[in-house]
Amino acid sequence: MALIERLEKTTDATHWCGQIPMNYVYTAGRAGELFFKTLKEKGEFVGARCNDCGIVYLPPRIHCERCFSNIEGNNVKVPNKGTVHTFTVCHENYEEKAKEAPSIVAMIRMEGAAGGLVHWIRKCEPEECTIGMEVKAVLKPEKNREGSILDIDYFEPIKK
Ligand SMILES: [Zn+2]
Repeated sequence: MALIERLEKTTDATHWCGQIPMNYVYTAGRAGELFFKTLKEKGEFVGARCNDCGIVYLPPRIHCERCFSNIEGNNVKVPNKGTVHTFTVCHENYEEKAKEAPSIVAMIRMEGAAGGLVHWIRKCEPEECTIGMEVKAVLKPEKNREGSILDIDYFEPIKK
């Protein structure tokens, strides 16, 4: 498009359609590595506590996000349960094809920790899932864990 041409549609100036292939590797960092290693080897959740603020971060951080204190090494065990902060029910897969059965993806606030984990909720019908529902993590068997978030197989409701 030449500079003297007049735009008919605003999208002409803001984008053009196409695809950009992107490959990337996510690095968890020192604190994240500890989180995944502990999950894999011990089947436990480790967070980091800021002794100045009293906040426990999960996944752990090396610096407090509120006061910037160095909190690396202030590791604390976090229970494997939490509450549903928010959730969505997925009826289609990544290829926009209808799934055989809907799945639930939730943001879960782990007990005693700030932050949270995004994961599947299973053993729960979509209409049964509620914000505030208590859930616990179900881990893969130790021999199948690889040091990833998928070492958590899913979360399930805590039956009372
Ligand atoms: Zn702090």
